[in-house]
Amino acid sequence: MDNLEITVLYDNCPYKKGLKLAWGFSCLVKGLEKTILFDVGGDGKIILENMRSLGINPKDIDVVVLSHDHWDHTGGLNSFLTANSGVAVYMLESFSNEVKSVVKLAGADLIETKHPVKICEHAYLTGEIRSIVNEQSLCVMTPGGQVLIAGCAHPDITLIARFATNQFQKEFLLAMGGFHLKKSSDIEIKSVISELKGMDLKYVSPCHCTGELATTLFGEAFGDKYIESGAGRVINITDLI
Ligand SMILES: [Zn+2]
Ligand SMILES: [Zn+2]
Repeated sequence: MDNLEITVLYDNCPYKKGLKLAWGFSCLVKGLEKTILFDVGGDGKIILENMRSLGINPKDIDVVVLSHDHWDHTGGLNSFLTANSGVAVYMLESFSNEVKSVVKLAGADLIETKHPVKICEHAYLTGEIRSIVNEQSLCVMTPGGQVLIAGCAHPDITLIARFATNQFQKEFLLAMGGFHLKKSSDIEIKSVISELKGMDLKYVSPCHCTGELATTLFGEAFGDKYIESGAGRVINITDLI
């Protein structure tokens, strides 16, 4: 694990000039035994265009993970598989047949998950965390602690983090992605922050559905350990360790 790098490919929050913005989320994890695409955004054209702008070849991707069955995380799947169908696609077994059939028709490998599962050395999925919207998160183990990537965090980011740190690695380096706090009050957000800090979370990099107020409060609470995110952000994990 010399150069572990996570790039936000698709987001509604801006970061790097020249990338297309749209509601949804996707990021790419590079530097492990397998190159993992986490979620595919809502629009296939945009994710492929952003990949091109960032110099990422879809054919270099080995694994696709879908966090939950919402269009803004799955909508780009068909277009992506047209560019590269030689991938394994992990999704919860509770996903709709519609999404499953996109994978089958493209001839890619469909892997349905429910329980925690290992994707490759250092990379795991939580499996189904139940809520109104069932969701799974990607957890990457590093010498500096666990990196947790959430799609929308519908089951609650603290619950997902608690599950992941109990299940995998206690040390908690970074939580990133959508934290789903855009309708939460100041008090609710502060309690989420203090719970995450109680788990010794070192860095945060929220985006997508986190909301403006929560993003500001995370920034204040984590100071120089807050990593601004948005489309085109590259987080070099090795630098954080
Ligand atoms: Zn979302
Ligand atoms: Zn969602």
